[in-house]
Amino acid sequence: MAHMIIGGKTCQAVSGETLEVRSPVDGQVFEHIPRGQAADIDLAVRAARAALSSDWGKLNASERGRLMLKLSHLVTEHGEELALLEARDTGKPMTTARNDMIVLARYFEFYGGAADKVHGEVIPFLNGYQVNLLREPLGVTAHIIPWNYPAQMMGRSIAPALAMGNAVVVKPAEDACMSCLRIAELALEAGFPAGALNIVSGLGEEAGAALSNHPDINFISFTGSNEVGVLVQQAAARHAVKCTLELGGKSPHVVFEDANLELAATTVVRGIIQNTGQTCTAGSRLLVQQSIYDKFVALVAEKFKQVRVGTPEMNLDCGPVVNPTQQKRVNRFIEQAKAAGLPVLAQGSIAPGVPAEGYYVMPTFFGNVPADNALAQEEVFGPVLAAMPFTDEAHGIALANGTDYGLLAAVWTENGGRQQRVAKALKCGQVFINSFGAGGGVELPFGGNKRSGHGREKGFLALEEMSCTKTVVHFHG
Ligand code: NAD
Repeated sequence: MAHMIIGGKTCQAVSGETLEVRSPVDGQVFEHIPRGQAADIDLAVRAARAALSSDWGKLNASERGRLMLKLSHLVTEHGEELALLEARDTGKPMTTARNDMIVLARYFEFYGGAADKVHGEVIPFLNGYQVNLLREPLGVTAHIIPWNYPAQMMGRSIAPALAMGNAVVVKPAEDACMSCLRIAELALEAGFPAGALNIVSGLGEEAGAALSNHPDINFISFTGSNEVGVLVQQAAARHAVKCTLELGGKSPHVVFEDANLELAATTVVRGIIQNTGQTCTAGSRLLVQQSIYDKFVALVAEKFKQVRVGTPEMNLDCGPVVNPTQQKRVNRFIEQAKAAGLPVLAQGSIAPGVPAEGYYVMPTFFGNVPADNALAQEEVFGPVLAAMPFTDEAHGIALANGTDYGLLAAVWTENGGRQQRVAKALKCGQVFINSFGAGGGVELPFGGNKRSGHGREKGFLALEEMSCTKTVVHFHG
């Protein structure tokens, strides 16, 4: 039985209730987690508040950084154990799970190193005054985590918060939280003082809602769906609390006729099948200049056909999707697209021998998708790629910007002027030129534009998000 951590101690839910954890690999229950609810969230918030005025709050920045570096080393030492947990919980191939743990360790390393390098400022003002701009923690920060990259998303969200001296309360996703609970244990082992890092497992509508509505939190970092993001922002507004929302995406590749087609095709396939398409930044739209459309989609189709789905141990390109709801949802998108007559350009294959009760879906590549089709507008969150042609630069940009989302985009062209023009015209948080970097890039500020959310995580901007300034005006004559 897994446990939560509140106030430096491992514990079960106050109610004693638990939730089953099923593996998407075979649909079987393999663990139980505490069903934390409002009472547990309240204890966690109190513990975090208390930590700010006790041992955790008294550490200086370099001491906080050292603890984070120790946690980074512990994550590396326990990398295989964490990867196995993550793979069982989410179904991802072992190579992906192992890579996720490398990125997780990197979050604690990057922000541990940054903890004592965030300086305030001195502001020139009137004669006789000294004005200092101090950068301070926000206080108790709440972190609501999705199931697609549980460990990575937890690291991304809490590392900058801890570096700035906040005390954190984490609510991981009920569908996959085993690695998150283990990371919190490793933080205790690293020596984080009681209450610095609290974690409460449970359902979104119970523990998640209780956390985002708690009157004594100072900030919410939410990563998840748009529907829940809106609820979280409403909750934050009720207490006038700042929040960042990292939501969904419908990220395009814009491929021009002068692109390196071989490199682009390989990257496009990788960008949609990564994590079985369950990546907010999945490159799910393929916009191709008309003059090379047939040739390029044939090249992509050739590579797409080789995509194989299997169990984590088979270590193929994709695993199952996370739960039966997600499986039905992805299959519904595929069936509706077929019923609408969209051509299937390629499909991957599901390896023989995968458990029949697992949540496997067929990777599918559709062509000639109209710009107003669901596949061109909605986040599928599965291995489904939608191609469509464009005529010229202006048309390519219009199609790329033609969804409610704005998370990531890639531009494929050898023309330097076009690279810059298109990158500037795209309405999204990150643009890659002749590459595509879904996930990773701990140093690179990341976040949404339009309905993909607001606020920035990763890089130094996350340290600004998770802290506040105080202007101290001193008249000395
Ligand atoms: P989700 O919104 O269903 O759940 C996310 C978290 O919110 C979970 O911990 C869940 O328990 C919690 N939650 C659910 N209901 C809640 C409520 N009423 N109040 C408070 N918390 C609640 O999202 P998901 O299905 O776990 O994740 C998939 C979505 O996350 C996709 O849309 C994906 O694009 C997005 N995502 C975005 C990013 C990003 O950085 N932009 C990264 C990963 C995932």
